[in-house]
Amino acid sequence: MAIIPVELAGRSYEVRVASGLLADIAGQCALLLRKKRVPIVTDSNVAEHWRATVEKSLIAAGHEPRVLVLDPGEGTKSWHVLERVMDWLLAEEVERGDHILALGGGVIGDLTGFAAAILKRGCGFIQLPTSLLAQVDSSVGGKTAINTGAGKNLVGAFHQPALVLADLDTLDTLPAREMRAGYAEVIKYGILGDREFFDWCMREGPEVVTGGISAQEFAVTQSVKAKARIVAEDERETSGARALLNLGHTFGHALEAQTGFSDRLLHGEGVALGMVLAARYSARKGYITEADAALVTAAIASAGLPTEIASLGLNCDGQTLAGHMLHDKKMDAGTLPFVLLRAIGEAFLDKQVSLEDVAAFLGE
Ligand code: NAD
Ligand code: ZN
Repeated sequence: MAIIPVELAGRSYEVRVASGLLADIAGQCALLLRKKRVPIVTDSNVAEHWRATVEKSLIAAGHEPRVLVLDPGEGTKSWHVLERVMDWLLAEEVERGDHILALGGGVIGDLTGFAAAILKRGCGFIQLPTSLLAQVDSSVGGKTAINTGAGKNLVGAFHQPALVLADLDTLDTLPAREMRAGYAEVIKYGILGDREFFDWCMREGPEVVTGGISAQEFAVTQSVKAKARIVAEDERETSGARALLNLGHTFGHALEAQTGFSDRLLHGEGVALGMVLAARYSARKGYITEADAALVTAAIASAGLPTEIASLGLNCDGQTLAGHMLHDKKMDAGTLPFVLLRAIGEAFLDKQVSLEDVAAFLGE
């Protein structure tokens, strides 16, 4: 088992990466589960495959698991589902010192984490990420949120989990397309800060997405280490280090917005194409070579992820895509910082990018 500490000023916690963690959940969480009742929030897809495993371990240890099963999908990160979760937690008499288990992908982790942040002004929670994206990204770092009519993740809080258990076995039941989408966030760590890891991804990326367990273990462990390092440096996204994690996301969000945040383009797919665009735009500005931009494109294509806007059939021009960026929540006093590349493995925040130039680039 790999144990990665997330070291924060206030309090630190562990991310454990291994097979079999959910089957031993009672043992893994023994120090944190002080009551018989254990509240668990999950979605129906995850419950179908993993609820019984978690319940079995808890019941064998004398616990009484209480499970709230929500609908799968981004729509669950909403005000009305949050209200349902809060009412349920209150009815279950969850107290501040208790820990709520968030069993699922980023949707369940973000929603349950936010519920934990505001229940009685903050109670404990444990992340049990079951998607690749959640294991390498959303379960670590303490960002929690819901969506509103005005946009994604606009209402939320920083609230760190007490523990993260990334059980590699859960990836066996994850749909292939979700696996590829999660992989975009894996290769992101290589592109933004670790050339050696990028080179590993070039060789082993296809193995990660097709289910090679040792490749998956290395990918998850390295990704969590990278995220933990950045979060420790900049817990609340104030110094700029954490902003580098947005590589590919500004372009990606514009594409997601154009598809109406529908299943036509998953978040990770948008990020994948967004990283290709960030690399090409970096080349256009003369920061990296065209050959390096082509290498990024090839690495992303080899995992079966999109690399061309045309392939999405969006039927819109560069101006329209750049227009979506005006609503980006990173907009700061009229400028939008872009994460660009100085080299593969060396991202930086460029605050001088003109949206008109980006629109022209996207229209080419
Ligand atoms: P998700 O939670 O919707 O999971 C994707 C799909 O896979 C869902 O249908 C889910 O039911 C299913 N699923 C998950 N695990 C499964 C398993 N083991 N077996 C079978 N099916 C499984 O989405 P996601 O991609 O995990 O996360 C996306 C969300 O994460 C977005 O809302 C995004 O905003 C958020 N996010 C948050 C952060 C953060 O720092 N908090 C970072 C990145 C993304
Ligand atoms: Zn992302």
